Amino acid sequence: MSTLERMVAPAEDRWPADGGVPGDALGQVLLASHLLGADRAVANFGGGNTSAKGRAADHVGRQVEVMWVKGSGSDLATMERKDFTALRLDEVLALFERDEMSDEEMVAHLARCQIDPAAPRSSIETLLHAFVPAAHVHHTHPDAVGVLAGTRDGERLVDECFGREAVWIPYIRPGFTLAKQVGEAVREHPAARLVILAKHGLVVWGDSAEEAYRRTIDTINRAAEFVNARTADQPRFGGPAAGDALDSGARRELLRAVLPALRGAVSSERSKVLVVDTSARVEEFVTSRAAGELVGVGAACPDHLVHTKRLPLWVPFDPEGDDAGALTERVRQLVAGFRRDYLAYVDQHRDEATAPADPDPRVVLIQHVGLVGVGASTREARLSRDLYHRAIEVMAGAHALGGFTSLTEQESFSVEYWPLELYKLSLRPPPGELQGKVALVTGAAGGIGRAVVDELAAAGACVVAFDLDGEGAAEAVEPLGDAGRAVAGDVTIEATVREAFGQAVEAFGGVDIVVLGAGVASSAPIGETTLAEWERNHTVLGTGYFLVARDTFRVLRAQRRGGAIVVVASKNALVAGKNAAAYSSAKAAELHLARCLAEEGGPDGIRVNTVNPDAVLQGSRIWDSGWREERAGAYGIEPDELEDYYRRRTTLGVNVLPEDVARAVLHFASEARSGKSTGNILNVDGGVSAAYPR
Ligand SMILES: [Zn+2]
Repeated sequence: MSTLERMVAPAEDRWPADGGVPGDALGQVLLASHLLGADRAVANFGGGNTSAKGRAADHVGRQVEVMWVKGSGSDLATMERKDFTALRLDEVLALFERDEMSDEEMVAHLARCQIDPAAPRSSIETLLHAFVPAAHVHHTHPDAVGVLAGTRDGERLVDECFGREAVWIPYIRPGFTLAKQVGEAVREHPAARLVILAKHGLVVWGDSAEEAYRRTIDTINRAAEFVNARTADQPRFGGPAAGDALDSGARRELLRAVLPALRGAVSSERSKVLVVDTSARVEEFVTSRAAGELVGVGAACPDHLVHTKRLPLWVPFDPEGDDAGALTERVRQLVAGFRRDYLAYVDQHRDEATAPADPDPRVVLIQHVGLVGVGASTREARLSRDLYHRAIEVMAGAHALGGFTSLTEQESFSVEYWPLELYKLSLRPPPGELQGKVALVTGAAGGIGRAVVDELAAAGACVVAFDLDGEGAAEAVEPLGDAGRAVAGDVTIEATVREAFGQAVEAFGGVDIVVLGAGVASSAPIGETTLAEWERNHTVLGTGYFLVARDTFRVLRAQRRGGAIVVVASKNALVAGKNAAAYSSAKAAELHLARCLAEEGGPDGIRVNTVNPDAVLQGSRIWDSGWREERAGAYGIEPDELEDYYRRRTTLGVNVLPEDVARAVLHFASEARSGKSTGNILNVDGGVSAAYPR
């Protein structure tokens, strides 16, 4: 049976067979945490928590009983020792005697139990760990357990699968009451070895981290075996729906055509980045019979809610009857409808203090096509996508076992807007001013281009580096990881430019900022200027800028969210450069192209502005070519005297550096800085009076 056919996958026992296990309890729970997080079908990103009880010294050296528990906001797979918070166990256990407790009281109490007040706030499930009387407690949300916990008849099935070894706790939001219920249930059922929290997850315990870890894996594998045996004769999601799936080429074309409209539609309050997933698991789901119904049931785990919302957006698509135009229109309408429904849901359950979250969908499923994760950064978009993969696996098994069930609307709302859940989100680094924006930079491998890539990325943008030199472009975006994409190509070839935008759309869903920086230069008196030289300047600087600008307009107009084009021209666009007519006239064409496009783009919120650098020698490829000798010859000086020459000729007496130009580009790229400027020129030339605009 192939992986795809199997209803639920088993988990691998990763505990080291020999050696490699730390001697101390904290080291052991850290190891177990990493092993649990190593398989996202066992512990999803940021989800689940672990603890260990033992002895440690307090701030005056007294040995006290403590519990180390995962801090809020860390991830099991990557957490470190410092991400565990040590609490005085007797002070936490004192709460077990209470009958009820508000979240605020609980958080305040736990803060006072911390051995180190500067440690992170302890997990929202801290009390659950404390109230289970065992040295090691692990809480996860594995797919296989989620299937049983998320099936309508889950309680009976858990009983059939695990008998007296399992305790079933009906759904209740995490907090004091759930912790108390679990603590009491474990005490009342001496045969119990695990607790299954309905519509939520798994709690196990043991005398050692190894025992607790192995119990998690064993529970998953027994659940998977049970589910697979019960559903052996059933296809996942009821099998494929009627109609042929798109082949990969047609799907790609369709996505390139539709994603900018989708991206614009889901960027109502802030710009979003899209991540597309057409993997086999996703394809199986979006082409299935049951998907359309399953997507409307709700989240597969309360942990997903702040990252996926209660529901994804489902976009019906018929590969035979619909085309890209129809799908584009449908996407716009459905996103608007999603927003209305979401705000109505918030309105129905909110109190006066609730501020509605961003109402756009975080997961979009296009029937027969794929899944699109939506987020303010690639990290967030990927997280939404990854969590929905977990949901797909849970729904597969639960659907086959008799019906997938989820939190009610009220239950979902009270987790999605739970202050303790929102607190986790508040721990993220503050957004940069270009967060959610996508920039495409031509000439990205050059000195100015690289500085522009760095500047825009530092402000939070995703960057597509486009350059003839593919290796140089790749180097420019290498530090950006997922937030960068390199495209090798020639700005003067129509199909290549189209391809670069296609790749930007595939990588991030579209673009917002396009920096036209690819350049060449040559210098010669008019009598010695060859036709080839003339044409090279005008092709790269004129035609190349036109082609990139034209595709920019196409994508920006599809997004319907405005945008910024920044033309990197030259002081020579304004100043009559002696012995550089081909270059200077082509630069003047760029400048005037920018002004014309500013006029055309205005009604769509597309701003087009020009930065005019002068004599940026550092890191420049142009200046490493014959241009340095040629310019020095024109001024009657030696090539190595150029820096000094240029500095002296400026009003401010300075040399212009690539980062000076990059900051000017950022000014025009940023809505916050220059949102009401278009058709403008910013000279970055140290002051050249002949270039003063008038
Ligand atoms: Zn949980």
